[in-house]
Amino acid sequence: MDLALLSAAAGEHGGTPAWAMLAYLISGVLFILALRGLSSPGTSRAGNRYGMIGMTIAMVTTLVTHVPMIPGDAFNSYVGPDFMTMGEIVAAIAIGGGIGWVIAKRIAMTDMPQLVAAFHSLVGLAAVLVGWAAYLNPEAFGIVGADGAIHAVSRVELGLGIAIGAITFSGSVIAFLKLAGKMSGAPILLPARHVINLGTLAGIIALTAWFTQDQSLWVIATITVLSFLIGFLLIIPIGGADMPVVVSMLNSYSGWAAAAMGFTLSNTAMIITGALVGSSGAILSYIMCKAMNRGFLSVIAGGFGAEAAAGGGAAKEQRPWKRGSAEDAAYMLGEAEKVIIIPGYGMAVSQAQHALREMGDLLKARGVEVKYAIHPVAGRMPGHMNVLLAEANVPYDEVFELEDINSEFATADVAFIIGANDVVNPAAKTDKSSPIYGMPVFDVDKAKQVFFIKRSMGGVGYAGVDNDVFYMDQTLMLLADAKKMVEDINKGLAH
Ligand code: NAP
Repeated sequence: MDLALLSAAAGEHGGTPAWAMLAYLISGVLFILALRGLSSPGTSRAGNRYGMIGMTIAMVTTLVTHVPMIPGDAFNSYVGPDFMTMGEIVAAIAIGGGIGWVIAKRIAMTDMPQLVAAFHSLVGLAAVLVGWAAYLNPEAFGIVGADGAIHAVSRVELGLGIAIGAITFSGSVIAFLKLAGKMSGAPILLPARHVINLGTLAGIIALTAWFTQDQSLWVIATITVLSFLIGFLLIIPIGGADMPVVVSMLNSYSGWAAAAMGFTLSNTAMIITGALVGSSGAILSYIMCKAMNRGFLSVIAGGFGAEAAAGGGAAKEQRPWKRGSAEDAAYMLGEAEKVIIIPGYGMAVSQAQHALREMGDLLKARGVEVKYAIHPVAGRMPGHMNVLLAEANVPYDEVFELEDINSEFATADVAFIIGANDVVNPAAKTDKSSPIYGMPVFDVDKAKQVFFIKRSMGGVGYAGVDNDVFYMDQTLMLLADAKKMVEDINKGLAH
């Protein structure tokens, strides 16, 4: 049956055929199931599949309802702007998809955080461009009243969409540069930055209100420039241990930017998807803040409390420390009753998760109790360690979160730190001038024996500070690439 007839028979809603509304609803439900699935490692693959099916349904529906097969196709003319023909859209998808495919193939797992930040910036930029396209050609978007002016409500949507998009863009670019190490991770503190930030935000809100009365070019242009500026200003003072919150916050902003675009384009699926990403990102930011013992508002206000952090790059001390070998570690691990493994960013760098799982298996075969302790900000992105351990088939019931395992270090024979550093640094508990002060850390000092795998005594963690754990009586430093060290330990355990 002809689709036009089908939609006429089914009725229409706001220019979108009823069957398309139903398809969008189904994709919305699938996105919710995707989020539900992603909440646990065991169901995350199914969650991903739901998300992919939902996105396919949403994209096909949008294409079929919005894009004419041939220029001037009457079926599509009532649903808003006819941007391009199907051939042009398919070509654009092929080019964008091709670039994405090549990047996904080439990217190292350790570069994922900056890639995610870079992709967030593209969502923000897209929102700005859609907003400007609608402003410059409002008839095509169906947002013009009988008097020839843009509807007041559409002006609010445009102003907000462009502002959120621009903030997401410039904020994500700075996050990308910091995470990629192309810009110092340390906070950059401008004098009177809170006054400047609040003034700029107030200016954007006032101009958006003004825009409802006056649709002049200078108003929307100033909103755009100020929003690019505030995104930049909000992220540069955030450094060190607060970056994970920034990453999830920008994820949330990119969702709101997409939702705002959805309003401009009258696309229900985009509004639903954007709102889901925006709210789940906001919830994740809140959870990360709680885990980090930080106030949500103080992080998003940018660099609150960073005065202490800025001066906290403690110089390295020349103190005695003990070096261990793989043989020492294999012997002591084999003799232990309970071992707690703390993975961190270095495990991701060396891809040691498979060797580590093997080590766990060898220890369990000897009757040793093995547990994995995951800090909420270990690695460089939320869930980083969980993903790697799941990839190596580490059983989920051996993996514990900080608050569930921290009390167990007192009963552990060995705390086995592999590529983690900041998340075990006691300075977070004791040193007010440390950039990680206030963040909860693992109490590894309570374990009878500590093994600390890193490549050299010179290397520091993300926050760039020295770590007292290196110099404790019960610590043996295992200096090597993590994968190589664990493989050598495994050889010792296999004997
Ligand atoms: P970390 O503090 O960054 O320390 C990484 C450790 O791994 C260092 O001691 C490093 O020492 C070692 N290492 C690096 N490559 C290695 C290799 N190939 N083999 C062995 N060791 C290696 O890591 P973390 O304890 O996981 O802490 C995470 C930090 O990142 C926190 O400060 C957190 O705030 C921040 N952060 C987290 C996120 C997130 O979302 N999770 C996002 C951004 C920032 P060597 O160089 O001497 O080897």
